Amino acid sequence: MQHGTPPANRSSRIAGFHKSSPRERLDLVAAFADLAPASVAHLAEFGNLAPDLADRLIENVIGTMNVPIGIATNMKVDGEDVLIPMATEESSVVAAVCNAARQNHEDGFTTSVSGNLMIAQVQAVGVSDPHAARLRILEQRDAVTAVCDACDPVLVRLGGGVRDLEVRVLDTLGGAMVVTHLVVDTRDAMGANAVNTMAEALAPHIAAWTGGRVYLRILSNLADRRLARARAVWRTEAIGGPAVRDGIVSAYHLAEADPYRAATHNKGIMNGIDAVVLATGNDTRAIEAGAHAYAARSGRYTSLTRYEVTAEGDLGGSIELPMAVGLVGGATKIHPTAQACLRILGVTTAERLARIIAAVGLAQNFSALKALATTGIQKGHMALHAQNIAMMAGALGEEIEQVARVLVERRLVRVDVAQGVLEEIRRR
Ligand code: NAD
Repeated sequence: MQHGTPPANRSSRIAGFHKSSPRERLDLVAAFADLAPASVAHLAEFGNLAPDLADRLIENVIGTMNVPIGIATNMKVDGEDVLIPMATEESSVVAAVCNAARQNHEDGFTTSVSGNLMIAQVQAVGVSDPHAARLRILEQRDAVTAVCDACDPVLVRLGGGVRDLEVRVLDTLGGAMVVTHLVVDTRDAMGANAVNTMAEALAPHIAAWTGGRVYLRILSNLADRRLARARAVWRTEAIGGPAVRDGIVSAYHLAEADPYRAATHNKGIMNGIDAVVLATGNDTRAIEAGAHAYAARSGRYTSLTRYEVTAEGDLGGSIELPMAVGLVGGATKIHPTAQACLRILGVTTAERLARIIAAVGLAQNFSALKALATTGIQKGHMALHAQNIAMMAGALGEEIEQVARVLVERRLVRVDVAQGVLEEIRRR
């Protein structure tokens, strides 16, 4: 869809850009980048997200990025069958969850959470007596609760609000810092805005109690008071025998021991998790940050899942990670696709959503490890990947399937090969 060379001397300083409509902005961008009319027409098509709504969700909107939603079948979470909407651009992610869940559908996944508690941090610097200041803050527990709860009467009415107060004295490059942790039950909200508002309201009081200067007032994405957990057992005979089981356990041992492997191991877990987080309008970056910080909590980055052989000789898998997702707030409540996906999931609490997402992460990881420990992941990946490659080579309609099939047969899933195959097909 590329057009020509962008005009010289173009400037990215566009006065009033934010005040323009999405269409006006698109035209400005099209002129800047010399976009082909076909590209402009493509971007102008907002699909199933109304331009007005898109324009309110973020700034400087010119279009939308559509990602497919696939449904993972076979999942049973805490005894209840559930269909999982997954928004992802990566092939094999949905299939992986379906496959893992099919192999343990009888028992399914058992889940739990540690609570709905989010942490907000308030940083005080330049405190001459940080340890005494810490105690002065802790002595104000009731005042802290009153100031913060007053920020969010809706949350308090729903049973949420401040639950705990912790104060740490940190030895940093910039000297001692007094860091107050406000622990807040945010119920069915992810809670970032809710706790940030509280932290800002608390800041002047912290400054007064410590005699220091307050800088940062924001939540921590290491939401380790909001953990979601899932466990499952795969019967050894259902997954291909003891060698497969042991290969999966060995793959976990490597991820546990080695950050190079753990990064990829956890990436696979997040393939599943992010897809549900995105489909439900939740904050993928918050979940990613929490997951990886939690994986490194011992000081060495490691696996988010664990695998063991049960007393019966089967494969037991488990996962535990922060899961700050909500049903209200952010895009969850206003994005119609998110609302539809939450309806498909049938969740009515953030807690249930968090539990299902943890189960999806474990299912995803099981499938990846099973493939890696047996045939390798390329075999499963290749069918869909070959279609993507066929499209990259210019295949259209039925040609996509035809080209992809040949690429898989020849075990040469490459764009140059796809171009050759496409030419052959078109010549015929
Ligand atoms: P929000 O403030 O939009 O909604 C939460 C509010 O909704 C609550 O404070 C409460 O007053 C009300 N509410 C109504 N019904 C509720 C219920 N059943 N349970 C709980 N609250 C209910 O959203 P939020 O969840 O506070 O913040 C989420 C947004 O913040 C996301 O969009 C996220 O991307 C963004 N954000 C994230 C970060 C970060 O992760 N570091 C930082 C800033 C903002």
